[in-house]
Amino acid sequence: HAKAAGRNTYQMFTSEMHTAARQRLAIENSLRSAVANDQFVLHYQPQVEPASGRLVGLEALVRWQNPDDGLVFPDRFIPVAEETGLILEIGRHVFEKACQQAVRWREAGLPPVKIAVNLSARQLRQPDLPEMLSEIMKNCGADPGMIELEVTESMTMERPVESVRILGALKAMGIGLAIDDFGTGYSSLSYLKLFPVDKLKIDRSFVKDIEVDPDDAAIASATIAMAHTLGKKVVAEGVETEAQLEFLVRHGCDIIQGYLFSKPLSAEDAELYQAKLAERTV
Ligand code: C2E
Ligand code: MG
Ligand code: MG
Ligand code: MG
Repeated sequence: HAKAAGRNTYQMFTSEMHTAARQRLAIENSLRSAVANDQFVLHYQPQVEPASGRLVGLEALVRWQNPDDGLVFPDRFIPVAEETGLILEIGRHVFEKACQQAVRWREAGLPPVKIAVNLSARQLRQPDLPEMLSEIMKNCGADPGMIELEVTESMTMERPVESVRILGALKAMGIGLAIDDFGTGYSSLSYLKLFPVDKLKIDRSFVKDIEVDPDDAAIASATIAMAHTLGKKVVAEGVETEAQLEFLVRHGCDIIQGYLFSKPLSAEDAELYQAKLAERTV
């Protein structure tokens, strides 16, 4: 068996590559029709301020409602969308949906919370991004103060000078800004000082073992201290346990997001969640 496998390695490798390429092409084609048929839905994950128990934000996370496969998670299609450029159209749809939802919740009389929307690298490189987003908000009747954009650390560091300019333009419009997956990229502290962002989001990979791994604990607490020195707030992602929450609160983390409070919720369930919290804090 081993011999046969050895002899066939090259053939297997290429046929695997063909399979992978075919799968990608299939995803690409069905993504195109997904865009045309409006098959994207947003789920919303609560962001809670532990000091007050207040809900301060909801992160919009895209899902693809695929007629054959059901709900498809972003890790399975965002990379293909990025490569093919389809992400620009998907990103526009996502932003528009998030704005429409924010307006609906405002009209329903719910207390204001920021809706955080993820941007992709290609979107950040679009020179007319601020104008395009501004146009969408205007059409939806959304206020820039309702929206926060998340860009990853590695995305901003790809072209730091350009990022400083684009982020500055978005900030000037009144949109909130956060750096996502902080700590996983390769950031220059001197640029961090120049990025006009309001928040840093500590990546889930540092939160996971925060109470047992001294390195993760050190990275998380140093990030919080540094962010505060720079006048930025800190969101911890992927908080699943009381022990993680306790550590983060003890070190001054401002906002908590993770399964401990809630998984991402459908728009309907997110509305119930908001209504329930509003009742409790009134
Ligand atoms: P992200 O922006 O870092 O989002 C956080 C991810 O962590 C989400 O996965 C969320 O469901 C998951 N998560 C949150 N809390 C916990 C927890 O306590 N434990 C664990 N194990 N996971 C948790 P999701 O929804 O699968 O999204 C994955 C990534 O896809 C996002 O990472 C983001 O980079 C990207 N993404 C999602 N929506 C969009 C979008 O509309 N546009 C773009 N460009 N990217 C998106
Ligand atoms: Mg995010
Ligand atoms: Mg993240
Ligand atoms: Mg992530």
